[in-house]
Amino acid sequence: MGSLGFFVSGTDTNVGKTWVASAIVRSLLAAGKQVAVYKPVASGHATPGCAGSDARTLWEAAGCPGRLDDVCPQSFEAALPPVASARVEGRAVDEALLRSGLAALPRHDVVIVEGAGGLFSPVGQETLVVDLVRDFNLPLVIVDAARLGAVGRSLATIRAARAEGLAVAAVVLSHTHPVLPGDVGPLSAISIAKEAASSIAARGEVAVAILGHGQERLPEATEWLAGLSG
Ligand SMILES: [Mg+2]
Repeated sequence: MGSLGFFVSGTDTNVGKTWVASAIVRSLLAAGKQVAVYKPVASGHATPGCAGSDARTLWEAAGCPGRLDDVCPQSFEAALPPVASARVEGRAVDEALLRSGLAALPRHDVVIVEGAGGLFSPVGQETLVVDLVRDFNLPLVIVDAARLGAVGRSLATIRAARAEGLAVAAVVLSHTHPVLPGDVGPLSAISIAKEAASSIAARGEVAVAILGHGQERLPEATEWLAGLSG
């Protein structure tokens, strides 16, 4: 496969992957790229039928290219991991479609793929997220929530990814909650995120960006992103 783009994975579920992936999409669109988005499988609140679903959020960020059904070709309603969620419906995850769905996307310069859960979360009976990253041959963007513990979580995922032979393009720390007006000083959410970002960058030898709550694009000076949009 080997299309140009990024695979957006997380240190865990609910760390802001969809928002970060959407911000990457908007940044690339602003740089004049044709961007496709892909979510191999979704379950629970992430299913395309739900308002504000992952697939719809990504698709809208990309300017609604192609059909929403192609963004996420298989989804299951129960708020369980995909395999269990499929079982509730008497179905099974289509392992081949997890991969082949990428080829059905409309013409694009760049593709942004959002995984489900973390790097080692199962997305099929046989398949973990990490297997898809390898098969798609895309560099990883690792998302973590900008809160205490980010350094440990991020480094664990960076090291595990590299041990699997994957390229890590960047880590993005995402403010998943608004910063409260009185939240200032060294213990503030902003300070914690900045400290964590420099520690991850130094210890993980990786580019780190911080995405503010509600911020629609990544910071302008994001070199790893400019490399893709050049
Ligand atoms: Mg998501």
